[in-house]
Amino acid sequence: MSEKEIVLEIKDLVVEYTSESGIVHAVNGLNMVLYAGDTFGLVGETGAGKTTTALSIMRLVAEPQGRIISGSIKFMGEELLTKSEVEMRSIRGGMISMIFQDPMTSLNPVMTIGEQILEVIEIHQTTLSKEEALVRAEEMLELVGIPKQRFNEYPHQFSGGMKQRVVIAIALACNPKLIIADEPTTALDVTIQAQVLELMQELQKELNTAMILITHDLGVVAQVCDHVAIMYGGQIVENGTVEDIFRRTKHPYTEGLFGSIPNLINNVERLNPIKGLTPDPTNLPSGCAFHPRCPYAGDICATKSPVETKVLGGHIVECMIYEGLVKGEVKGADHA
Ligand code: SF4
Repeated sequence: MSEKEIVLEIKDLVVEYTSESGIVHAVNGLNMVLYAGDTFGLVGETGAGKTTTALSIMRLVAEPQGRIISGSIKFMGEELLTKSEVEMRSIRGGMISMIFQDPMTSLNPVMTIGEQILEVIEIHQTTLSKEEALVRAEEMLELVGIPKQRFNEYPHQFSGGMKQRVVIAIALACNPKLIIADEPTTALDVTIQAQVLELMQELQKELNTAMILITHDLGVVAQVCDHVAIMYGGQIVENGTVEDIFRRTKHPYTEGLFGSIPNLINNVERLNPIKGLTPDPTNLPSGCAFHPRCPYAGDICATKSPVETKVLGGHIVECMIYEGLVKGEVKGADHA
């Protein structure tokens, strides 16, 4: 693993928003590393900080309400947080692409799908002639399974799944090093979801593109990802390979997530959801942010924050059970 090229390295990222009800602590000291060709699943409930992390990488956190307070985001070894807006514009869409949840809001309804793919190629691949750019746009369309004869059709002439294929073609048109897909299949039917995920995986492996897949769906993670990070309260609380997370679960929150979804192996009458609600990011609990909901919490959890602890290989957990400060044994049930 260590021989693979590092595409993205985030260290101690802190992002805040100012709102009427106070400071929203959206991301609180996030660390992650992403290697070429790998798919990194970022999982968590709404408000965990997943999308803010993605927007920070793109430097699209809406200012002045949103601010990257501190930290480092290195992409291909270069610091993104010190880049000028002009430099970032050539990186976005060219080197880093983003796929959003709803394809209808990503596509321009008054431009043909062909024009929209062509536009990205013309902006970022300036060495190509008009004819070459056109050929590339048609190739991209065919690559995502849409015949080039449909180049001059408008988004409303396509189904949801087909529209998301067009968005994927636009995202991949410039052969980016990194794709950030934010809930890319949530708005699609289940059967279409599977097709779109399969297509994304095929193309990503073919082009050796790294991908961050933001989702709340552990089934999608199991199907697609190499690495998984579980986010809670703006932090990554558990990070490891899919095997680590699914077969050797270590964090009480991850255990709670698995207890909240139906399982074909353990035939239970009632699911076991995590008690309580996700924390208010304007008023995060002291100590470990998960302590009001954690079945293992000890007194210390309300006052002291856990630190990253390596349990095995690259499997990292932020929980004081692994610092020897709290007693408990998280069940590593097999969810794969
Ligand atoms: Fe639970 Fe304490 Fe571990 Fe937080 S640090 S997850 S409250 S046991």
